[in-house]
Parts: sequence; C-alpha cells; structure tokens
Amino acid sequence: MASQPDPHDPQSAEARWRTLVEQIPAITYISDFDVRGTLRWVSPQIEQLLGYSPENFVTEQDLWHRLVHPDDLERLREEEERRFNAAEDFDIEYRMIARDGRIICVREQDCIVRDAAGTPLLTQGVLLDVTAQRVTEDALREERDRARRFLDVAGTIVVLVDAEERIALINRAACELLGYAEGELLGRNAFDTLTPQAAREDARAAHRRIMRDGTEPSSGAEYAVLTRDGRARTMLWRNTLLRGEDGKPTGLLSSGLDVTERLEAEQQVVYLAYHDSLTGLPNRALLAEHLDLALARARRSSASVALLYLDLDDFKLVNDSLGHAAGDELLCQIAMRLQDRRRATDLLARQGGDEFLVLLSDLETDPVATARVAADGMLEALSRPFTISGAEFNVGASIGIGLFPRDAADAEQLLRHADAAMYQAKAQGRNAISLYSGEGHQSRDRLSLSSRLRKAVAREELVLHWQPIVDPRDGRLSKIEALVRWEDPRRGLVPPDEFVPFAEETGLIDAIGEWVVGALCRQRVAWRAEGLDPEVTFNVSPRELRRPLFAEHLRARLDEHGLDPGRVIVEVTESAAMGEQGSAEPVLAELAAAGFKVAIDDFGAGYSSLSRLRDLPVQVLKIDRSFLREVPARPEATAVVTAILELAGALGMETVAEGVETAEQRAFLIERGCPLAQGFLLGRPMPARDLEPMLRRAVVAR
Ligand code: C2E
Ligand code: CA
Ligand code: CA
Repeated sequence: MASQPDPHDPQSAEARWRTLVEQIPAITYISDFDVRGTLRWVSPQIEQLLGYSPENFVTEQDLWHRLVHPDDLERLREEEERRFNAAEDFDIEYRMIARDGRIICVREQDCIVRDAAGTPLLTQGVLLDVTAQRVTEDALREERDRARRFLDVAGTIVVLVDAEERIALINRAACELLGYAEGELLGRNAFDTLTPQAAREDARAAHRRIMRDGTEPSSGAEYAVLTRDGRARTMLWRNTLLRGEDGKPTGLLSSGLDVTERLEAEQQVVYLAYHDSLTGLPNRALLAEHLDLALARARRSSASVALLYLDLDDFKLVNDSLGHAAGDELLCQIAMRLQDRRRATDLLARQGGDEFLVLLSDLETDPVATARVAADGMLEALSRPFTISGAEFNVGASIGIGLFPRDAADAEQLLRHADAAMYQAKAQGRNAISLYSGEGHQSRDRLSLSSRLRKAVAREELVLHWQPIVDPRDGRLSKIEALVRWEDPRRGLVPPDEFVPFAEETGLIDAIGEWVVGALCRQRVAWRAEGLDPEVTFNVSPRELRRPLFAEHLRARLDEHGLDPGRVIVEVTESAAMGEQGSAEPVLAELAAAGFKVAIDDFGAGYSSLSRLRDLPVQVLKIDRSFLREVPARPEATAVVTAILELAGALGMETVAEGVETAEQRAFLIERGCPLAQGFLLGRPMPARDLEPMLRRAVVAR
C-alpha cells in the first residue's frame, strides 16, 4: 500500500505541484521580473496549444512574441512595459498563431511574487485558451450587428419596449419615421412618447397585462404612432414577446408597417363606394345600410320608417337640351337644396340619375303626416328656379312615399313600393306626392313599365299624332310633325314625355323609333293614295342617331314604300346635333346625302354658338318653346328670338317658332318676320284623320 505523500516534504511538494500544474487545462509559467520578462519555466501544455515545446520557449526568448498575432503585438508590448513600470499584476487578451497556423485567443494573467521587502522577484502567470469563448462572442457580436443592420434596412419599424415600458431598442427606420434621433428615444417611456393620447391608457394596460401574464401578444392590429411633429401614422403591428432565462416576459418586440397611405386609400375607396361622386351625397348603398339599421330599430321600438322616392320631372329634357355638364351642375344645385331642406336626422341619398331617396327614421307619432310634410318641404325647396349658365330653369319632382311597417315588411319591399308610389305621383302630373296604396301599385313599378312598354311596341299600342306647322301670318300649312303617343289600355293616352326618356334609358327607344318610321311611311302611303303629300317632320332621339348606318337604314325604309326622302325632315335636338358628347355632324351629313332634310329641334336651349350652325347641313331651325313662353314679356327672350330669326334667315334656314299659345306671341313672330310657327294656338297635335281637312285645304291653296 502506498504511503500518503507528506505535504511538508519538499520533494513530494514539488512533485504534487507539478502534477497539479501539468494537469490543469491552462498553461502556467514563471518568468523573471525584468523588462523582457525572461521566461524561466513554462508548463508542458504549451506544446499542445502552440506546437512548440517548453524548452523552445525558454531557449528562444523571443519565440513567444513571434507567435503573437501582429495586430495584437504592439498592444501586448505596451501592456508589458506598463506593468513593469507600475509593478502591477497583469491581465490581457490577445491572439497567437500556432505552429500549424491556427489563430488562438489567449488570456494571460499573472501576478508578481515579491521578497520580504516587497521587491518584485518574478512573475507567475497563467495562459488560458479562450478561443472557443471568443469565437462565440464574436459570432454573437457579428450576429447582433447583422440583426441591427437588418433592422436598420428593414422596411418595417422595429421597437423593443421593455417590461418597464421603456424603449429598449429602436431601428433607424423607426427613428426616421418618427423624426427622432435614436438617442432621444432609447430609455423613454414608449407610450408617453409614441402613442397618441386617446389610445395611451389602453395601450399601456395591454402591455402591462402581457408583461404580467406572459400571454402571447396578438399580431395584425393596426394602431397609430405619434411622430415628433404630432402627426399620427397608422401602423400594422406584429408583436413578439421576449422572455428572460427564467421564462418571465422581458419586453415586447414589435415591428410595424406604415399603412397610413393604404388606409387612406381604403377609406377613400370606402367613401367612394358609399357616396355619389357627382353630388357627394350618400349613395344608394349607404342608404341601404342605414335603412337596414332603421328598420331593425323600428322593429324593436314599434316606430315607423318612411322612405321618400324623389324623381325629377323633365330632367332628361333639360339634360338633353343643355348638355351633360349643365345637367350635372343642375343636379348638384338640386342636391344642395334638398340637403339644406332635410331635417338633421333624415338621410338624403342619390339613387342615381335624377332620382333621390330620403330616409326618415324613428317616426313615433303620425308617420304619414311627417312623411308628407317632409315631401312637401322637398318640393318647396325645388320650387324656386335654378340658374345655370345665367339662364333660369324650373325643375319639378314627383315623390312617392313608402312606410314601414305600414306598406312593407322589409327594406327591399319598402324601396320597391316607394318607387311604385313615385310612378303613381308621376302619373298625376308634375310636382305630385303619392303615398303607396296597396298592391295595385306594383304593376306601375319600373320593371313592369319597361315590360309593358315593350309589349306596347309589339302590340302596336303606339299611335302617331300630327301637329301642323304653319305660316303665322295666315295659318297656311307648311308641314306636319309626327309625335308619338302610347295608347295604354289602362291609363289611356300617355304623352311621350312620360315614356320617351325612359325608353331612351332602357334602349327601348330603338324599337319605338323603328315603329315611328314604319307608321310614318304607312301614313304617307295612305295619304298618297288620297292625293295628299304633306311635308312631314319627325323626331329622332340622340340614341337612335348613334346607331351605325342610321341614315342608310332610314333611306331604305322609305325606299320600301317608294317614298321621297326630300319630303321628310329629320328632327334632331340641338344637344344631339352640336352637344358635347361628340357631335352628330357626320350623321347629319349622311342624312343630307341620303336626301333628307335636317331640322335642329329645341334650338336655343343648348346654348350652342349660333355661328356653328353655319357648318351644319341643316335646313330647318326650331326655336325652343321656352323662349317663346317669355315673349314678348321678357326683353332677353325677345332679343334671343330676334337674333335667332335673323341669323337663320341669313343662313337661308327655315325657322319654326315652337309653342305659340297666345295671340301676342303670334303677333310678335309676324312682326319679326318669323316664317313658320307651331303651337296650340295654331293647331294641337291630332290624329291623322282629324288633320285631313287641313291637308286638303293646303292642297287646294297651293
Ligand atoms: P318636341 O319635339 O319639342 O315636340 C313638340 C312638343 O311640344 C309636343 O309635345 C307638342 O305637343 C308640344 N307643343 C306643341 N305646341 C305647344 C304649345 O303651344 N304649348 C306647349 N306647352 N306645348 C306644345 P309632345 O307630343 O308631348 O312631345 C314631347 C316630346 O317628346 C317632343 O318634343 C319630342 O322631343 C318627344 N317625341 C315626340 N314624339 C317622338 C318620337 O316619335 N320620337 C322621339 N324620339 N321623340 C319624340
Ligand atoms: Ca320635335
Ligand atoms: Ca321642340
């Protein structure tokens, strides 16, 4: 059995010390305390580390320094010198290059061994291989730098808010967005600095909850940050909870994408989706949403909801004669007046075209009376004339009223019934209000109007009336205008104003126009058989004019019946002929080439320049009857009519003054030398057989 080594035996102490030193995973050495640090002894592990034996180092005193990485050598030397001068202990890290070329990071620590007087004798040192540690530290630092660089170039802003609400990290993008320098933000309270006042307490509470409970934060929320100059930017956030080693939350890492512009665009889209672009009023979609809500409230509270369906009277005519820009302007003015008139709680919406809707909700007592008063107010608001381009216009409206729950069970039905009531009001004439009155109305809604009109064309329920155009001086017949009517078995004779605009909108006008031309040809054939050959003039709508090969097609129809196009005048409204939406000039030229005469109808209402007339192949000019209405009372109208007469005369056109109703008007026209006139005073539109005596007299007179 081996005896225990005696700790006081110097031999054995030396041996133990060696064993110890040679086994620890570090290199130990002893050197003199001199300027050069002359190495006396170094433990054998050095060979493993650097590839040179301890003897190499002792015999070659400069070997050590030769192995130090050139970039670190100077620093090491300075440190050694400083330590020698100050006689201090020494602790330094530097790199060495091993015999096989590996770079090794070492940490060298030593301490000075002194004699009893305190004079330094030698140094004892330890050299530790810290390469592994350094590499990971470097890698970490590099990783951090990379992350940092990434954060800085990332399109998102990145903010780390610690458990104490402080900004612990913030990237460059965030600083730029917010208008701060990084140093100004780090350490500041995130919520006080960056959250808009209104959201501050909520944001703070949410942060506290997450920090306290460690619940995973939600992502995908949009909330605003406040920039230095007080603007709010809306950000879309992704949040990550950071935890310490113990698993406790340490902070919230949030990356935010600036979605302010996108959001504004979205809001714009939403706005556009719910508003009428022309008038800025809520549109039908927004009204529908409010209507749903109003009905839901009414169901709970047993209140009523009223829906007013307002349709302008004759707007289409205004639009056609004045042009679209003026029509738009008029719509805007109308919208403004209606908007001013409605009660604050009523919702006014533009349904489209010349139709408006007014929603009256939460009606407690006598909803019928309330709705009527509102409707009256709307009509009253429109009763003053409108001024467009310096001219005055009167616009009427027809209003249908539907009530919930009285007339309808749901929104869709309420809309339909208010619409039906509006058609009822239209049938009563201008400026009427009609309350929905039961199922009988349903046949009058629009769908059935269009199908009934379609059937009317097919069943030949249309009829032509003829109005004489005469010399105002002696009433001698010059030509006759064909005017279409609808003989509705239910309603009786329906004037064209009540279905032509609608037919234009739905495209039915093409079929009606075809019918008119056919009826006109048949009538002329019948008259021819009786020896009558009046010059006829008929109306063509703008939409028909746009049909390709319109003139050729028309000519072919006349040819079928062997009729002379030279006795047929095509009336085209001023706006269609010279209006904004591309002029009909080519069609007019084609009509002229096909042998027809062309008349400009309703001239003056569209404010076309008179000089443009010169360039058009037009033979007849019909002065809009709105001018004559004011003649001779208003000097402006008188002046306009006089000017038109003179110009038309100079251009060799035949002028027809429309709407002659009084003897004064007729006298005025005679005085101004107006060659032709048309109006109730001189002859109403009438069926062909009523006209025949006049036609016969004309033949005799000729
Ligand atoms: P328009 O072409 O200006 O036709 C003249 C209109 O003025 C006729 O109305 C006629 O009855 C009315 N009128 C004639 N003299 C007087 C008068 O002294 N005082 C008043 N207040 N009115 C008078 P009507 O027949 O109701 O036709 C209205 C409009 O319907 C026509 O205006 C025309 O634009 C359109 N229209 C009529 N027939 C046709 C057709 O076959 N095709 C097309 N596309 N439109 C037609
Ligand atoms: Ca006409
Ligand atoms: Ca006319």
